[in-house]
Amino acid sequence: MAPEFLLLILSSPSGAGKTTLSRKLQDTFTDLCFSVSHTTRPPRANEVDGRDYHFVDREAFEAMVHAGAFVEWAEVHGNLYGTSVQEVDKARGTPGCGGILFDIDYQGARQIRAKLPEVVGVFILPPSMLELERRLRGRKSESEEAISRRFEAAKREIEHYALFDYVLVNDDLERAFATLQGIVLAERARRGRLAFIAEALLRKDAAT
Ligand code: ADP
Ligand code: 5GP
Repeated sequence: MAPEFLLLILSSPSGAGKTTLSRKLQDTFTDLCFSVSHTTRPPRANEVDGRDYHFVDREAFEAMVHAGAFVEWAEVHGNLYGTSVQEVDKARGTPGCGGILFDIDYQGARQIRAKLPEVVGVFILPPSMLELERRLRGRKSESEEAISRRFEAAKREIEHYALFDYVLVNDDLERAFATLQGIVLAERARRGRLAFIAEALLRKDAAT
């Protein structure tokens, strides 16, 4: 893989704001390709198959697991979610795609890190548990049961913050987004990613 290709994970307890931040990031860094996961969760009212997720039934998902079609997969809040090998290969092979953005949970982040150690992980925190609950309810996308399940899982997810390179508190959205942009810009300037430019300048045949 080209060293300048960025693998970026955004993870958080449900409702902390990773979808919101991920959309803003894609609007700003238009060469970041979003990894569209497969899931057995039913689509929400505003979700589009193939754009937000590939929505599949459990049987189809399990067949993909057995075929080794996933880079990572996990059960989250009672549904199955996974990143297909095809999705990562597609991003790498798409001209103009300078990186891939994964919106996945900590279990998936751990599996991707084991296979692709150069991945950069960002864990998003809500400013408080009260605000997390307010955001989960305010989104009006889940049943009361699903909201409670997600809220109860939040602390177990936050316990895994140490799997990530960066922690981002999503209090004020614009401030949090500015920090996230800073992370992406800094990661893109890492010596390892840009060494090829210095090396090209140093080549004997570099004219000017
Ligand atoms: P996640 O993808 O982590 O589950 P979302 O991005 O769907 O979370 O955000 C959950 C809700 O919180 C949404 O209604 C979103 O508009 C709202 N939200 C996100 N970030 C903020 C913020 N910084 N301040 C207030 N509300 C926010
Ligand atoms: P939601 O149902 O709110 O879209 O997502 C629920 C959780 O599943 C979120 O934490 C989200 O990051 C995670 N998730 C989404 N896609 C994947 C995936 O492909 N793999 C894993 N491990 N988690 C995912």
